[in-house]
Amino acid sequence: MARVTAFRVGHCTHPSCMVLKGSGLQSLCFPSRAYLIETAHGLYLWDTGYARRFREATAKGVYRLYAWITPVQFDDAQSLHGQLRARGVDPKDIHTLLLSHFHADHIAGMRDFPEARLMCSEPGWEAVRRLSGIGALRQAFVPELLPPDIGTRLGFVESVAPTALPAALAPFSHGRALAGGEIMIVDLPGHAPGHVGAFVLTEQGWVLLASDAAWVSDSYRQLRGPSELSFLIQHNRASYYETLRKLHALHQSGHADIRLTHQDGADYVPLVPA
Ligand SMILES: [Zn+2]
Repeated sequence: MARVTAFRVGHCTHPSCMVLKGSGLQSLCFPSRAYLIETAHGLYLWDTGYARRFREATAKGVYRLYAWITPVQFDDAQSLHGQLRARGVDPKDIHTLLLSHFHADHIAGMRDFPEARLMCSEPGWEAVRRLSGIGALRQAFVPELLPPDIGTRLGFVESVAPTALPAALAPFSHGRALAGGEIMIVDLPGHAPGHVGAFVLTEQGWVLLASDAAWVSDSYRQLRGPSELSFLIQHNRASYYETLRKLHALHQSGHADIRLTHQDGADYVPLVPA
């Protein structure tokens, strides 16, 4: 059984109605989380949250617009590698850094794990690998955040053949097994090209790290999407809603604990095992 620990690694702010239709203009805190997954087959990370390098990379050129559109709060005490060390985990011991997609608030800390194997979906990587300047910015992608040796360290989840998931996880039917099946990668299309999530088998049951398939839990609880304006930056509206319906059904079944990268507020129960 794996153990999942959530780390809050910086945050930005957005008007509430942007992430949930009709929910008003009040400013919402939008934390970015990374997850440590301790398995019998080694330590995995799910995304990285923000990092000091994000601030540096968005302080120049066209990327200044990124920092202007989403004001980010991050200080060095929140760095993922620092928080891991504080929990007794040496960043060098991370076996694989799994990336749900290439939006900068998920990958900003990549270069702080120079020894980890990297893994993402191939369509996710293909969609961004040649982008720069305004083209990159439009995909919320900041090329400078990538490690220079990414070409030799990056593997694709598609290299693992899909296998059947337990029936309890319906409507999700197939996933790609990592760490002896303690982690099952699933496609959660719609938010970004090649956007993936991970079911993790823990002692408390299955946890679904659903990344940005929704921004707040009310979205899948009530089948209530984000602002239409958000689809200017999200990848595909139809598949986004298809994924949201699957999350809704999974939530109704009660068979997995769904965890979104950015959720916050009264209904958020921190995922930090004793
Ligand atoms: Zn995203």
